[in-house]
Amino acid sequence: MVEGSTTGPLEGPAAPDGWRERLTALLEAYAKRPRPKTPKERAEAARAWQSEMVDARVAAPGWPSAVGGLELGLEDQLDYYRMTSAAGVPKHPNPIAFIVAPTLIVYGTEVQKKRFLEPLLRADERWCQGFSEPGAGSDLASLSTKAVRDGDTYRVTGQKIWTTQAAEADWMFALVRTGPAGRGTAGISYLLIPMNSPGIDVRPLRDAAGGHHFAEIFFDDVVVPVENLVGEEGSGWSVMRTSLGHERATAFLADEFRYRGLVDKVFALTIDQGYADNSLIRQELAYVETGVRAIAANSARALDAVLRQQDPGGVASVNRLVKSEFEQQLHRLAQRLTGSGAALSNRSEGAVDGGRWTYGYLMTRASTIGAGTAEIQRNAIAEQVLGLPSHRGEGTRPAAVAPGRPLTAPEEDEAALREVLHKALASHTGTEQLLSWATKPADYDIGLWDELIRFGLPGLALPEDLGGAGASLRLLAAAVEEAGYALAPVPLVPTLIALEVLRQAGAVEAVRAVCDGATAAFVVPVDDGGWVVDDRLPTLDGTRLSGSVERVPGAPVADQLVVLARENATGELVLGTAKPIEVEIVPQESVDVTATIGTVVLDGVEPEIIARGAEVTRILDAARRLAQVALAADSVGVANRALALAVDWAGQREQFGHLIGSYQAISHRCADMLVRAEGSRAQVLSAAEFGPDDAEARLSADIAAAAALDAAVWVAENCIQIHGGIGFTWEHPAHLLLRRATANQVALGRPENLRDRAAGAVLARLS
Ligand SMILES: Cc1cc2nc3c(=O)[nH]c(=O)nc-3n(C[C@H](O)[C@H](O)[C@H](O)COP(=O)(O)OP(=O)(O)OC[C@H]3O[C@@H](n4cnc5c(N)ncnc54)[C@H](O)[C@@H]3O)c2cc1C
Repeated sequence: MVEGSTTGPLEGPAAPDGWRERLTALLEAYAKRPRPKTPKERAEAARAWQSEMVDARVAAPGWPSAVGGLELGLEDQLDYYRMTSAAGVPKHPNPIAFIVAPTLIVYGTEVQKKRFLEPLLRADERWCQGFSEPGAGSDLASLSTKAVRDGDTYRVTGQKIWTTQAAEADWMFALVRTGPAGRGTAGISYLLIPMNSPGIDVRPLRDAAGGHHFAEIFFDDVVVPVENLVGEEGSGWSVMRTSLGHERATAFLADEFRYRGLVDKVFALTIDQGYADNSLIRQELAYVETGVRAIAANSARALDAVLRQQDPGGVASVNRLVKSEFEQQLHRLAQRLTGSGAALSNRSEGAVDGGRWTYGYLMTRASTIGAGTAEIQRNAIAEQVLGLPSHRGEGTRPAAVAPGRPLTAPEEDEAALREVLHKALASHTGTEQLLSWATKPADYDIGLWDELIRFGLPGLALPEDLGGAGASLRLLAAAVEEAGYALAPVPLVPTLIALEVLRQAGAVEAVRAVCDGATAAFVVPVDDGGWVVDDRLPTLDGTRLSGSVERVPGAPVADQLVVLARENATGELVLGTAKPIEVEIVPQESVDVTATIGTVVLDGVEPEIIARGAEVTRILDAARRLAQVALAADSVGVANRALALAVDWAGQREQFGHLIGSYQAISHRCADMLVRAEGSRAQVLSAAEFGPDDAEARLSADIAAAAALDAAVWVAENCIQIHGGIGFTWEHPAHLLLRRATANQVALGRPENLRDRAAGAVLARLS
């Protein structure tokens, strides 16, 4: 062991009491200071800040108190990170140190902990990670740098490569081979190597972005004391995998803050560069907004699971892949927004925003390589989360959760609701049963509808005094998702939409009738932008309606129609109800064979008027959100069912002597299907959680609906592809999913239009 033990405030348990006050005082003092200007000043300030935090005993919120941490519970840790992120304090200048720290805390000897942890926290000593070698990247277990025991020392010979911050590092934590040569993980040990040891040669490498952040390192018979071994000799592979559970969870939150800030900067760049009205750019902006929300929604669910003492499981590996590709997408767009500025190097005079976007674009090429490539992440999702067979012929592990089911365990009430509905729906939705509806364009499964009514649908989220069950919109979304998953041949979504319009209009009797089991449909023309309110509407002349509306989902089986029209005399919008018996409904053939659609001919009908004028505009505005959440939830169900079918098939179909799921062309496709299906689920559920008056409610519904409607089509298309010929047959359910997804995609306006509106809303907020 190298001499130089430090003593100081980290010795002995820290007192968690009063940490908030101590941190607040520190943050307030920081806020009053002038900001450092040059990179050198910034680096010095970051180091000084770390020392101040250590002195105030607030530098290590998640570490155990025995090593000087605050040992805070997760909720307090989240508060801690919210406080420090909001204050914009400098980050630790050597983040890699937080990879070795948990390892030392769990496996280090008392001497090692005492020697290393405090200087590490203070950034007085810097660390680099020596894992990768020229011949061992993704396949780290094939590393060959040797450490041969010689009395009380090891003699290390070999080479490491792409070692970040190696040139400034005082120490390296390295994986070395102490056992026989080969790929065996049993002969690998975890060693702490002083970087100033004789025989070490650090040769900086220039990266693609022009920087010198990493290096290759040559070891020529470097002598390292045996007491620098962490854990047992030969146990380095498992030692390497150490992490402190809570810290991993809180890392989610830190990323979220960072990405949100970056996305806002890209929106601001759009305005500055004059692209705010460019519709192609607005699509890209909306995708980026979708990405940051998907990450936030996934993280929130993972955190929630940790708070409930559950393993966040597969969500963590999905998030890693999503984040790395999101970083690239974000910077690709930002660089695009610099216009012809993209021709300049980031250091050039005149580079937009000091060249940060060009630099970021080049630098984020590494996002999908470092710390496990995107392909390795897809392997992990396919093999460890979905339970597909190993691509290296190493068998099959059980799936983390049944494919298609929520990756994070839902709360108790939601889990119970899903289970009951899942079972009830299954007995009505065998493939043959579903296919039989194709010949009945004006019919639905009344038995199933009755079961859903008994269960509390469609009034699940309505107040009890209106005949509803008083549940949350989130629970309703989960229920609709289950119906979509089962391809339930009932007019649930059309009825929910009409019901919401009735509720917003205060049509209490009609609301009660629907809660009691009446089916309903909202008669309104729909174009790419959504509900139409122009001269394509039916007209009200005196007391009578005239005109017709085609392609009304659910109309052929509706007991109650809600009609939007324009009054001839006043030009005002009116909402009225009508009984199907009073109008002519001509069934059309729906592309979705589990649903009905038809033309409603209104000539001469006398509706009961339930709202008019500005009130109608308010009602439509308010009802649109529930309509989007319900439709999107149905698509989430469809996407996840398509995923489940595809994974099931990939795990049983053999070609060329192997299960097709062991081919990465198939397994990576399945991984991407999971990412989109689960990502849209997280977004739709979180969009359902906003209160109706929350400023975010509408924006998040637009973004979530666009993501879910497109995801369902894409995942269903891929489901057919993974099935090959059998997936293209009428008897196989894959086409039923694609058909339902396709119909949903246009039922309330196209996803492109939803995205455009969402991008416009974010831009308006910033300008
Ligand atoms: C900016 C940056 C910083 C880094 N910092 C460090 C550091 O500090 N310390 C350190 O030890 N390492 C570091 N690395 C190295 C990094 O961990 C490796 O680059 C990474 O693990 C990939 O290994 P490789 O480069 O050898 O690529 P390879 O493993 O050779 O991969 C080449 C291509 O083949 C694909 N591939 C490989 N195996 C499979 C498979 N089984 N299935 C499907 N596709 C596969 C990969 O996805 C990739 O597309 C850093 C890398 C970068 C880019």
